Amino acid sequence: MKVELLAVTPEPERIIELAARTCYQSGDRMTPETLGELLPKLIAMGHESPFEHAYATFRLTGVSRAMTHQLVRHRLMAVSQKSQRYVSEASFDWVVPPSVTPGRKAEFDADMEAIRALYAKWKAAGLKNEDARFVLPNACTTELIVSANFREWRHVFRVRCHPRAQWEIRQACLAMLGELGRHAPHVFADLMKECGPQKA
Ligand SMILES: Cc1cc2nc3c(=O)[nH]c(=O)nc-3n(C[C@H](O)[C@H](O)[C@H](O)COP(=O)(O)OP(=O)(O)OC[C@H]3O[C@@H](n4cnc5c(N)ncnc54)[C@H](O)[C@@H]3O)c2cc1C
Repeated sequence: MKVELLAVTPEPERIIELAARTCYQSGDRMTPETLGELLPKLIAMGHESPFEHAYATFRLTGVSRAMTHQLVRHRLMAVSQKSQRYVSEASFDWVVPPSVTPGRKAEFDADMEAIRALYAKWKAAGLKNEDARFVLPNACTTELIVSANFREWRHVFRVRCHPRAQWEIRQACLAMLGELGRHAPHVFADLMKECGPQKA
């Protein structure tokens, strides 16, 4: 799995605080020294719309379709994902779950190779990518670009970094939380503390 931060709003905490202080007309109380201190108070009181003014975009590669099927359910997130209609999966790669013990990994890989052969068989029989993909496994790797505002990222991290979340989505979300925690520590401090990368 590779998680790359492609873009983030410049000075996100300043933008969020500026938005919040516009509500209260208290911009004169905003100083470089106190920047960000208001943000945890906004979170505590549920005043979350200012967090919608900051955005972040990530690229995820080498992740399974099993994982992305969960991630793309988040409706306030913009998603562009590798197509299985326009792109052939003839040489698809796969994710091996950690519960497959080293002693049985070869068996798992052989099963995936068998599915590759099935895909090739149906392509040779004349099926288009869009129909040949019906034999593909959830383990099949994919690539996607995801963008969301910080309010949505906070929601996604709260549910997907939880210790009981599925391991692969948790791993991806912990990596993204770690990146955003560096860019906007006051916005993500509570989540970093609750379930941050150090607790992975
Ligand atoms: C632990 C876990 C188990 C799950 N198990 C299943 C499962 O078995 N089957 C399954 O189908 N799905 C399952 N899901 C997916 C889940 O039902 C949601 O589809 C997914 O979490 C994304 O939706 P969301 O509401 O969290 O947030 P988002 O879609 O990211 O939206 C963010 C927030 O915006 C608001 N919002 C967005 N759209 C609406 C709307 N239409 N109406 C009102 N408010 C809205 C809500 O407050 C929402 O929390 C599971 C999710 C988790 C975290």
